[in-house]
Amino acid sequence: MTPFARSILDWYQLYGRKELPWQQDKTAYKVWLSEIMLQQTQVATVIPYYHRFLEHFPTVESLANAPQDEVLHLWTGLGYYARARNLHKAAKVVVEQYAGEFPQDLEQMVSLPGVGRSTGAAVLSSVYKLPMTILDGNVKRTLARCFAVEGWPGQKKVENQLWSIAEQHTPNEDTDQYNQAMMDMGAMVCTRSKPKCSLCPVSDLCVANKQGNPLDYPGKKPKKQKPEKETWFVIIKYQQQVFLAQRPPTGIWGGLFCFPESASSDISSSLADLGVREQDICSQQIGIAFRHTFSHYHLDITPFVVTVDRQPTMVMEQSKGLWYNINQPDKVGLAAPVKQLIDTLTRE
Ligand code: SF4
Repeated sequence: MTPFARSILDWYQLYGRKELPWQQDKTAYKVWLSEIMLQQTQVATVIPYYHRFLEHFPTVESLANAPQDEVLHLWTGLGYYARARNLHKAAKVVVEQYAGEFPQDLEQMVSLPGVGRSTGAAVLSSVYKLPMTILDGNVKRTLARCFAVEGWPGQKKVENQLWSIAEQHTPNEDTDQYNQAMMDMGAMVCTRSKPKCSLCPVSDLCVANKQGNPLDYPGKKPKKQKPEKETWFVIIKYQQQVFLAQRPPTGIWGGLFCFPESASSDISSSLADLGVREQDICSQQIGIAFRHTFSHYHLDITPFVVTVDRQPTMVMEQSKGLWYNINQPDKVGLAAPVKQLIDTLTRE
């Protein structure tokens, strides 16, 4: 075992997290669920979602058999919805191809939708104690600093270098504890903006610490200006209900329910396309515009509230639509800005 791994394991015995919900009565299903939720999301945010998910879907079969709308509904607020759609697809694969048992082979694990090399290895090492290497964002940061790996880990060359260092130090025994310790180290000690080097078990080995420049690692992503787009949300309101349409399964907010959109501030043609008659409109009001930022662009959204005094029969060509009661919400997944606007309408 390398001195790095020894120090990490010793630290884990004293300070590592051993009480996380998915560490109790471990099963592959629970650990996999937690690993998917933890991608790009912190532990404290994940815990209530994890409990709610397990309450609704205590087994991989119950998740596989659930309607996608229910899965997206329980995911509402966690973001990165492709994770929820892949989670649902992966559960179906586990049930249909593996008789409800998660595979114990890394290649088969990574063939499940949404499971990458690091996530697959994290599940297999944690549940079946297999000696497999992980490399999530936290681990990348710690290793990049400790071994002074130059460059942005989004570049294949840099990522490969980090995988090779990670593999070199992953011990063959107690791999489950070592991997958990590496995730904990990144979350608790070698944190993004304020690493606690004086409390770090590998500070003597850490090159960035010796150089006095831990914040220079890992290298930053080359900056690119995000493009800006704009859209109008057409909020058709009848009494306490608003009309929502389901988005296509792929693309932004895939499968989630959203207000119909208009590409310009002239929403009359969108209203006509939806089947809203002019004589049924009692008021139209432009709301406060706001920005929603995706990983690859900014979207400026202007809400346009159209109140009708007769419930129109909506014309939906390709997608599913519903009248959503803002006081007795349906169990469907909502895009984050839609949820935000509905919360505002509820308070009015
Ligand atoms: S010494 Fe500081 S920079 Fe180096 S691994 Fe530890 S916490 Fe991170």
